[in-house]
Amino acid sequence: MIIAIDGPAGSGKGTITDIIAKKLNLVNIDTGATYRCIALATLKNNIKLDEKDKIIELAKKQEIIMDENKNVFLNGKDVTKEIRTKEVTKIVSQISSIVEVRKILVDLQRNMANGKNVILEGRDITTVVFPNADYKFYLDATADVRAMRRFKQNKEQNIDMTLKEIKENIEKRDYNDMHKPVGALRRTEDQIYIDSTNMTIDEVAKKIIGYIRGDEEK
Ligand code: C5P
Repeated sequence: MIIAIDGPAGSGKGTITDIIAKKLNLVNIDTGATYRCIALATLKNNIKLDEKDKIIELAKKQEIIMDENKNVFLNGKDVTKEIRTKEVTKIVSQISSIVEVRKILVDLQRNMANGKNVILEGRDITTVVFPNADYKFYLDATADVRAMRRFKQNKEQNIDMTLKEIKENIEKRDYNDMHKPVGALRRTEDQIYIDSTNMTIDEVAKKIIGYIRGDEEK
């Protein structure tokens, strides 16, 4: 079984997929983490954002592994925390706009899911990575609510960004992510659309599980 969830930053995809993966015993794949790894490698190698060929070559050489607890290993090193820093978050949507980088990472994401029962979250899972997924959801919320959620989450993880900085970053990423030539975040007829602005995490998880179990009508 393949469950695909797309949506903008802060829409709750990560938290929701964690809950559903546990409840339904699915392998949990955070595809944003793969783009974050290439962004981190770009920074570490002092490559500039306009040096696309170098970024593509770099992306080809990276080994990205995710364990069952969503810990992320880049070339054998645990980078779970490092890929969430402000520096990485600021450049990741520019990295993910490079078409060749997307090709490399979409292949990797498909391989990660191969032969397993999976839940994947990202921006183009329902449209590009697994357009034939068994269940496709688009999770949404207003930019203000998403910024506030990320602000609270960052606080818990000791990531130092002001609410204003987060909101600006989210709006910039929304724009970049929705205007990519390939793999843009978009709504389609066959996704189940959920606006979580006024919903709790548990309510959203329940609703999604309801659809999967067939208790909720599309
Ligand atoms: O989900 P997260 O916010 O960690 O994703 C980081 C960035 O990775 C997004 O802003 C987007 O630019 C990119 N991304 C993507 N396609 C995906 C998942 C993430 O382009 N499937």
